[in-house]
Amino acid sequence: MRNYALSSAPADALQLPAVRDLRRILPRRNDYQRRDVERIAGVVIHHTSGAHLDWNAEAIARYHVEVLGWPGIGYHFIVHWSGVVDWCNDLESVAYHADGEIRINGVGLNNWQHVGICLTGDFVQGRTPTLWQLLSARLLIDRLSWTLGRRLPVLGHSELSPMLCPGDQWAEWGKELR
Ligand SMILES: [Zn+2]
Repeated sequence: MRNYALSSAPADALQLPAVRDLRRILPRRNDYQRRDVERIAGVVIHHTSGAHLDWNAEAIARYHVEVLGWPGIGYHFIVHWSGVVDWCNDLESVAYHADGEIRINGVGLNNWQHVGICLTGDFVQGRTPTLWQLLSARLLIDRLSWTLGRRLPVLGHSELSPMLCPGDQWAEWGKELR
């Protein structure tokens, strides 16, 4: 069993991961509805699923916009295998990533209440996020909590909906993000 303890991170992990601001660059159809950030109750973690690849944000955005017909990419942040973070939507954007049965203005309540962070990859069949992804996601969540002035709870998508996102070992590696 792999050891995820953050204390085992290599020393160069002290370099803070880069955040690329792609909010005005990624393809989109129109604007998501907006919320007050006070409404944000927590963070939902996703994986990209499908092929186990370090998908780039533009490919994900094209899929969400052109195939699914969403206003823009569904996640607020994408965390890559290298630990690099892509910032994809304003925190105020009610992006489509968690849905849920209860809907407000046609959009799932879970979207109104959460920030969506997607780790690239398909974490099934023994695959897990890279140490860099975990470190980076942890730092990102800490920064979000600091920015919003309260500790944000962290949920896996599967804790809100009956689905296999972010993979079948979330209960194990998710501990590093809570
Ligand atoms: Zn998901």
